[in-house]
Amino acid sequence: MKRLTLADCFDPTGERFGIPTYPWRCAPDDLATRRQLRSRGLRPGGQDVAAQILRPRRRREPLTAYLYRVDLARPVRPMTPARWAALAKANAARRRCPECGRDAGYVIPPTLGTCVTCAYPEEQRAA
Ligand SMILES: [Zn+2]
Repeated sequence: MKRLTLADCFDPTGERFGIPTYPWRCAPDDLATRRQLRSRGLRPGGQDVAAQILRPRRRREPLTAYLYRVDLARPVRPMTPARWAALAKANAARRRCPECGRDAGYVIPPTLGTCVTCAYPEEQRAA
């Protein structure tokens, strides 16, 4: 591939590259990279890549960064007290032994399916 110049990278209709393409630092303000969204407290939110920016490099493939539409971006969901509580509840359920119903204090090993005390009653008594 012939070395790209910055001017080659200007393809807002995507005629050349298949998707709208802008030279490095020349992307429209309504498009942002994942990192730029993140710095504004946003995430792509399931949308497809809207465009790309290309940065030509000497004797190497150009650097590519994907752009997302800012108007379709969603706020990053913060951890609220309710979400922390739900997470703690899920973890507690994974520690509860279905055999004796006690909180084992550790996540029940899927290979045992019960707490260690229930899985090996003899060994526990001997110990
Ligand atoms: Zn048990």
